[in-house]
Amino acid sequence: MHLTAYSCNNLRMDLPNEQRLHDLMKIFLKENEKVNLSAFRTEQACWTGNILDSLSLLETLPKLFTFPVRPRPGGHFSLSILDIGTGGGFPLLPLALNLPNIHFTGLDSTQKKIDAVQRIADAMDLKNVELIGGRAETLGHDRKYREQFDSVTARAVAEINVLLEYCSPFVKPGGKIILWKSLDVDQELKDSEKAQKEFHCTLKDRHVYELPGDFGKRQLLIFEKTSKISAKYPRAIGLAKKKPI
Ligand code: SAH
Repeated sequence: MHLTAYSCNNLRMDLPNEQRLHDLMKIFLKENEKVNLSAFRTEQACWTGNILDSLSLLETLPKLFTFPVRPRPGGHFSLSILDIGTGGGFPLLPLALNLPNIHFTGLDSTQKKIDAVQRIADAMDLKNVELIGGRAETLGHDRKYREQFDSVTARAVAEINVLLEYCSPFVKPGGKIILWKSLDVDQELKDSEKAQKEFHCTLKDRHVYELPGDFGKRQLLIFEKTSKISAKYPRAIGLAKKKPI
């Protein structure tokens, strides 16, 4: 297995914390035997498909935010990121491991997945990770979470129009929504034009990257939420998916 396969095409950088990421992968794969968290069950597939894919954000994050490299005095975090539909903890866990001065919250509607990710975060002693079991449609109306995050991420959760309804309530105006997508999203983007208007989200950037082996090229879509959205969003549980805007 090539652990340093990170030097693929435009993911050209030394892989930070490689040993810790390897430990994370091992602990994850053990949990994955007990709880169904991911289809990537071998080390090689999990390393590329989950760990490297999550870390694709590292390259582009400094362009999105100017944040201090060192933690602030008093233990304050420089940025807050929410990962919606974190599942087995991707992209949440590899990012949290590499960005200790950013506070990460993982949200998933399946409590047993959240419990498994909590065990992994504890085993890795990740102090910047918080996990919540619940639905985006419910938590998006909770004052504790509404418009509280600098950025919201989502990988493999839903189509763009649905994701904008899930994500935008949590993002501060001026904050970013970052979606992990395949290259073939033209139709999905077209279908999300109304949602982009309704949820005050503008597509600001695309970050194309290439993973080793059969994984190929993928992209991050980066939306900016330009201003507050109507209090009626997100709609009741299931509506974003059943009747997308
Ligand atoms: N992001 C992970 C998991 C993707 S699977 C990865 O890339 O590997 C999608 C996850 O989203 C599932 O675990 C599911 O429980 C969760 N999910 C789907 N709709 C949701 C919602 N409305 N609120 C919270 N979690 C949701």
